[in-house]
Amino acid sequence: MGRARTASRLDGLGTTIFAEMSALAVATSSINLGQGFPDTDGPAQIIEAVVAALRGGANQYPPGPGIPALRAAIAAHDSRFHGLTYDPDTEVLVTTGATEAIAAAVLGLIEPGDEVIALEPYYDSYAANIAMAGGVRVPVTLRPPDFRLDVDRLRDAVTRRTKAILLNTPHNPTGAVLNAAELAAIAELCLEHDLVVIADEVYEHLVFDGVHTSIASLPGMRERTVRISSAGKTFSFTGWKIGWACAPPELLAAVRGAKQFLTYVSGAPFQPAIAQALALPDSYFTDLRDGLRERRDQLAAGLAGLGLEVFIPAGTYFLTTDVRPLGYPDGVAFCRDLPGRAGVVAIPHQVFYDDKAAGAPLVRWAFCKRPEVLAEALQRLATTFG
Ligand code: PMP
Ligand code: GLN
Repeated sequence: MGRARTASRLDGLGTTIFAEMSALAVATSSINLGQGFPDTDGPAQIIEAVVAALRGGANQYPPGPGIPALRAAIAAHDSRFHGLTYDPDTEVLVTTGATEAIAAAVLGLIEPGDEVIALEPYYDSYAANIAMAGGVRVPVTLRPPDFRLDVDRLRDAVTRRTKAILLNTPHNPTGAVLNAAELAAIAELCLEHDLVVIADEVYEHLVFDGVHTSIASLPGMRERTVRISSAGKTFSFTGWKIGWACAPPELLAAVRGAKQFLTYVSGAPFQPAIAQALALPDSYFTDLRDGLRERRDQLAAGLAGLGLEVFIPAGTYFLTTDVRPLGYPDGVAFCRDLPGRAGVVAIPHQVFYDDKAAGAPLVRWAFCKRPEVLAEALQRLATTFG
């Protein structure tokens, strides 16, 4: 054996669960309710706008921060939906998906040894990004049945070394949407301890019960928040990888500083199209949400009918179940068996936890699929477990 080639900062990160489970879905011809991507594309007119941009010559490097039309559209969107005012020239940055915005924010703001608090279960790239920056991940666990934030636990998690809270709401994988009291408590802690919030709000338009409030809109928080979102979820174009970050100039400069050496710029022909998409009428956004709510209810009713304990999500396009009623104490074992046994793929929560026992029996199912696909998946599950 030669010496190890892989740098130790990647120790334990392995292959992302989404790649593993999607490959398994293909290999077993399973219905993929694992990785979160819709099986219906976004608006045809927005696809046509990309084609027109390609034919119109948007084929070379766009400006580093993003084309002016898209930065203006992002600022207009945030004003329209959140009452937030961002200067498109100094406070808006276009990125390669929210994934890059989060990575650039962590790399641009976190020093080695800084502690970063994240709600557990946490989206898998958070752990990787914090590790790449040499930071220390400090999880605060959300627990079933309602996955509310335990504000006392959050307060206890803050130390002298805490630099930032990496806050995801609406929350993947639980579907929890932080409420006014929870957001106010987080804001109070941030002001008291001079913390920055990296706010991952990619599911901002996918809220079925209650409302999504950006933490940036709370008093004193705009100055210390990097607000991140993405066209992937809002417009059902996850493969285009157009995301963005909005923040006051000093914070945004840190994110931009890292982004320019990660990808330099992002997808030229997609940018004018997403600028158009952001200006779609309110009915686009409410129709998307209402359609997904119906599919949430379809999948929830079907899974509950199989005897699973279902935790109804207020937002996102994921729902969580406890799989112990099907005879599986361990969601990882369940998800490894499921494609072979039933021809369906789901995602085990456990991979999103430091506290493995807390996530062990929980499994996430994506419902951003056509009703007939959900029906077929439920039929397969009923044949196996019914
Ligand atoms: N954050 C969360 C919570 C997500 O679920 C995802 C998955 N799309 C991302 C970030 C990454 O978004 P993008 O595909 O725009 O990179
Ligand atoms: N965000 C998607 C999910 O949570 C997957 C994105 C990815 O594969 N990295 O399922």
